[in-house]
Amino acid sequence: PADLQMEAAMPEPTRLERLLFRLEAQHRCLGWAFREIGNRPGIVFEMGLGHGRTYDHLRSYLPGRDIYVFDREVDCFADCTPPADRLLLGDIGDRLAAAAARFAGQVVLAHSDLGSYGEAHNTAMSALVSRLLPPALAPGAIVLSDLPLDLAGAQSLPLPAGTREDRYFVYRNG
Ligand code: SAM
Repeated sequence: PADLQMEAAMPEPTRLERLLFRLEAQHRCLGWAFREIGNRPGIVFEMGLGHGRTYDHLRSYLPGRDIYVFDREVDCFADCTPPADRLLLGDIGDRLAAAAARFAGQVVLAHSDLGSYGEAHNTAMSALVSRLLPPALAPGAIVLSDLPLDLAGAQSLPLPAGTREDRYFVYRNG
């Protein structure tokens, strides 16, 4: 039958499709998180400014929220540069430890996007964010991450319906 031939000919997702699915998952998780936090008070942590794509998304959909942005460098689109007083430049280990003490219990949404192609780097980032972020989180805070985390007091949640890629991670603080 024709449909069986189609199925047999269906290749594994290509690198292009995997990137598409990953960005789609990131976009869906962010949209879901915006609805989840609603009008609850609290600040936002964006960990990993990169080119500023997700920071641009956060500031557009969460106008009026204080968004603190972490990165070791500013290498973003010029129009995505955070205000100087919201930019926590330097190694995430130092900056997150200080920010978690400064903003203890105030973060209602944290987005962590610190991964790279290096396995050792990713393992170190997972461990570091898992250890340092929890004191900053408000009750019920949402955490989205490109890397798996082990956050004391938080539960892992399934990805929003319709995501075709499972390499994004969602948590809710208890
Ligand atoms: N969210 C960004 C976007 O949408 O454009 C992409 C972030 S990119 C995947 C990861 C970022 O994490 C890089 O800009 C890198 O400099 C930053 N980063 C990685 N390790 C870090 C560390 N130890 N301290 C601070 N920043 C780090």
